[in-house]
Amino acid sequence: MAKRMLSEAEGYELLQKYGVPTPRFKIVTSPEEASKAASACGYPVVMKIISPQIVHKSDAGGVVVGISCADEAKKAFTKIVESAKEYNPDADIKGVIVEEMAKPGLELILGGKTDPAFGKVITFGMGGTLVELMKDVTLRIIPVQECEIRSMVHEIKAYPLISGYRGMKPKDEETLVTIISGVARFFEENPQVVEFDINPLRLYESGACAVDARVIIDDEYRPPVRKERTHVPPEYFTPRSVAVIGASSDPTKMGFAVLHNLLHFPGQIYPVNNKRTDVQGLKAYPTVTSIPNPVDLAVITVPAVQVPKVMQECGEKGIPLVVVITAGFKETGAEGKVLEDRMLEIARSYNIRIIGPNCLGMIIPPRGLDTTYVHESPNPGSVAFISQSGAIINTVVDWSLKQDIGFSAVFSVGNQADLDFLDYLTFVGQDKSTRSIILYIEQLPDGREFMEIVREVAKKKPVVAIKSGSSQKGQKAASSHTGSLSGSYEVYMEAFREAGVIPVRALRGAFEVAELCSSPNGYPRGRRAIVITNAGGFAVLSSDYAEMYGVDLIELPPAILEELNQILPDYWSHANPLDLLGDASEKRFEQVFDILARHSDLWDIAFVVGFPNLVLDSADFAKQIISFTEKTNNLVVGTLLGGECMDAGQKILKEHNIPNFDELEQTFKVVGRVVWQRCRARSIGLP
Ligand code: ADP
Ligand code: MG
Repeated sequence: MAKRMLSEAEGYELLQKYGVPTPRFKIVTSPEEASKAASACGYPVVMKIISPQIVHKSDAGGVVVGISCADEAKKAFTKIVESAKEYNPDADIKGVIVEEMAKPGLELILGGKTDPAFGKVITFGMGGTLVELMKDVTLRIIPVQECEIRSMVHEIKAYPLISGYRGMKPKDEETLVTIISGVARFFEENPQVVEFDINPLRLYESGACAVDARVIIDDEYRPPVRKERTHVPPEYFTPRSVAVIGASSDPTKMGFAVLHNLLHFPGQIYPVNNKRTDVQGLKAYPTVTSIPNPVDLAVITVPAVQVPKVMQECGEKGIPLVVVITAGFKETGAEGKVLEDRMLEIARSYNIRIIGPNCLGMIIPPRGLDTTYVHESPNPGSVAFISQSGAIINTVVDWSLKQDIGFSAVFSVGNQADLDFLDYLTFVGQDKSTRSIILYIEQLPDGREFMEIVREVAKKKPVVAIKSGSSQKGQKAASSHTGSLSGSYEVYMEAFREAGVIPVRALRGAFEVAELCSSPNGYPRGRRAIVITNAGGFAVLSSDYAEMYGVDLIELPPAILEELNQILPDYWSHANPLDLLGDASEKRFEQVFDILARHSDLWDIAFVVGFPNLVLDSADFAKQIISFTEKTNNLVVGTLLGGECMDAGQKILKEHNIPNFDELEQTFKVVGRVVWQRCRARSIGLP
């Protein structure tokens, strides 16, 4: 029996040590004892069943409240025990707890759980019997600082019920913060406690009282040991010569596609094939060891059973890095795992580092290197993409060609037998061609190590992440409220926030956010924004979207309005959004941009929104946006709405790396996401 639940009484005693107020209580095993204990506690009292098999006591008819005399206490004892037996005939009934009845108060929940990737987290929110319905909870990864505990309290939707709502007196927030701090310490200092719920914690105008405690102990729990990590020199990812083992001329073979994508590699390519002397027009070698020159990288596509032997030969040849494309290892079960371990052991004995197995390998477009079998190699650019799904790489690369997006590096991590997510992240973090990083994450083995590394990288370059598995369906059924209220996805989101990673849901959004942040004036300093447009309709929509996505449209000071009045026709909007009217030419925009640029200290983001008409040429308009960007350090975002006639302008903006969108809501959504992240990150002291 690894996991067991403490009784409510044991839970109370433990929590009391950490400053959590609980009712006075006694445990009884007969109706007579119950009436004595009740009189000693002082009426009214509450009585509840004690049984390790009964987790939700109310469901079992195991809770009676408001007991006001000795006789009632006796009757309650009998009723509780009988109901519990009926509810679960096999339940081992240890007795009944008789406790002081706490006065009504605001019912909150405090809980903790152990996440497989990030370890212990605490949750706080609205409690009581409707917790799952309300789902108003927030979480932090422990250890937590007091300021973070305060922000947890402020973060829940029901916070006004604590601070005082509609004439209600405020509740004792200081006591609440002290209790949460104590509970966090309790969780941190008791390694064997893996999960707990205090629901409800009743909060009063003065003081509080926990009226239920469910603590789950796992005596066998050991926190995960950190993997030993040996640094990978960055030059490993920029080889000058590549051998393809299993290279083929048969277009139906993996070894064909891989070699095909390497044909444009500017360094040396050595096909290895033990049956042919010529593959796709190149001289082939029977083994890697027969290649007369040094080999920096080997790409293996032969069947899994042959991989250990081939790895051995790579070792003899002195190859430092090997990409194992082949599948059929750990992902297939126990036998595959044995094979993978065997391969790894051989690699270790020769100091070979491995990418994969069961992966696409890597693409370094600025170096013309592509070890994958993607349909067409992507263009060079500044975005690095690291993915736990090979299929997503195939899709994204294909899509990027149409979208004119280029990459500095693409990594498919596969089974991560040796090199893992964090090695690639470290590489792209220091890589000069990489300006922004996109991660596609399914699951991380060690979330805390990820946070340490990504936090450093995110200080220098924007890191955007898509985490799969947000649906309830994918999550395991949980035994506590805390378990069911905060799944693993929420923990990842919290980790991203703490580490300065920008979470996004969709792939397209990921690229838009990454491009925005790596634009010349990227990374808005704050959320103060202005909108400049030639259309009244878009002015109104901009206000709507700004509010929806957390962008603040500032009020323009009278002095600036006066300056604008000097150059604009009488009927302009006289407010932010600045509607320059439908007859606004690029000249009018330019004059307005000049004024706004001179007052750059007043705003953080300018949204320039244009629709096509006869007086506004899209290319000239784009050029004005570019020169506006040059006159200010603030973020300038273009939205050129319309059809083909806006293409020229959009193309120019793209060439100059100026963020631009062709759909207004998307503009605000993407900018709003970045602004939100910046503000949250800053609240915890990140740059
Ligand atoms: P369950 O196992 O069903 O969660 P609880 O111990 O939480 O059982 O009791 C159910 C409800 O009874 C609580 O949510 C609370 O409203 C009320 N209650 C329990 N203990 C007390 C108490 N000591 N004082 C006042 N109310 C209590
Ligand atoms: Mg309860």
